[in-house]
Amino acid sequence: MEQEIYRIYLNQHIGRPALACVNPKDEVLKGTLIGKADEGLSLNVHASVSGTVTLVTGEYIEIHKNRTETGGYLHLTSQNPIDLVQEAGICGMGGAGFPTYAKLKTKLKEGGIVIVNAAECEPVLGHNLKRIITNPEEVVEGLAIAMDIANVNKGVIAIKGKHTAAVLLLKKHLKKNMGIFLLPDLYPMGEERAVIREITGKLLDIHSLPQDANSIVINLETIFRVYEAVTLKKPVISKDITVGGNINRGNKAILDVPVGTQVGELIRLSGGIGKDVGELILGGPFTGKRISPDTFITKTTGGILAAMPFLQDKRDMGLLVCACGGNEDRLRQIAASMGANVIGVEFCKQAHPVNGRLKCDNPGKCPGQSVKVLNLKKLGAKTLLISTCTDCSNTVMSIAPNLQMPVYHCTDGVLRGAGFSLVRKIHLH
Ligand code: SF4
Repeated sequence: MEQEIYRIYLNQHIGRPALACVNPKDEVLKGTLIGKADEGLSLNVHASVSGTVTLVTGEYIEIHKNRTETGGYLHLTSQNPIDLVQEAGICGMGGAGFPTYAKLKTKLKEGGIVIVNAAECEPVLGHNLKRIITNPEEVVEGLAIAMDIANVNKGVIAIKGKHTAAVLLLKKHLKKNMGIFLLPDLYPMGEERAVIREITGKLLDIHSLPQDANSIVINLETIFRVYEAVTLKKPVISKDITVGGNINRGNKAILDVPVGTQVGELIRLSGGIGKDVGELILGGPFTGKRISPDTFITKTTGGILAAMPFLQDKRDMGLLVCACGGNEDRLRQIAASMGANVIGVEFCKQAHPVNGRLKCDNPGKCPGQSVKVLNLKKLGAKTLLISTCTDCSNTVMSIAPNLQMPVYHCTDGVLRGAGFSLVRKIHLH
């Protein structure tokens, strides 16, 4: 059955939640302001469907969608570009959620760069690529607007070299002082500091920000939404999503759907998922979280992925945790689903805690993993479950099989479902 109730969260971004400015029974149109940005760092939230407000809590607003709604939306009213970006409620839509207006106000020095991060480095996800193929001109225009707002003379679109068709399309539309940078097909090339390192040659430490490399980095979809806000006066009311893995209609469906759509509805729109699914994941195969079909998507959701059933291996298992992949809790969750007994946990030596999460000293450049694997072996691990990057997984695979330790990766279930190669050995493109 088609979804009727859309749930729109008041805090889909970094900063303070928006303050609800509608009440139950209010009629709203697509684009109506329903949550007003609070003071300080905060963002507006708009109705993504037309209909009747049915519930307002401190956390979210629910709207019963009017079945006769049209494709139109209420236009933003600000006059200049930075105000339109702010009024639209745009945040980092690659998952970070940082308010884009605040990012574009960063003062760079002479020679600064706006970088569009089109790496889309999590496997299976494809909505950024599809957006480029569908709207190359608008993406480039979004970059031009961002450069203008930030008062920067150089713009670069970072994209994997394997996407030749998308690269050609972008090149056709590039404007003065813009270029394309081709990234290798390795995980995690989309990590912000990895993108900056590849383009500028400068490796930022884990506490530094892009502005320390005289750069502003903006995700691909975000730059497209900047175009929509400034040129079409459109608020953020829809989201590009990849539904992938073990789904009935091939291995992926790309959708542009209202913010607040339910996962179950996305699955329905994608033709349904396979009969045997181990788990549903929100996000990418490396960093996604297990969710249920009741979950509602936000401005930062990228993927809904259906994994194959878990392989069962009840032997004692060692975990090797990466800063850019599944964290310890996520690996423990997978181990439990496999019926394994976790006997030890090791962290990549480049992974360090920063503000409650791990960050990598040099994303995607393996520091060597043999000591970590041997430590787990000494603890009695018979198998390994890892969340390591492409380069480090390759290293693990040069050691563990010699120690008769089968290796599992946190991405296995989704990659099997999508018919992709597993993360074990490096495949350069
Ligand atoms: S070097 Fe280590 S922490 Fe960094 S991305 Fe690779 S596995 Fe993760």
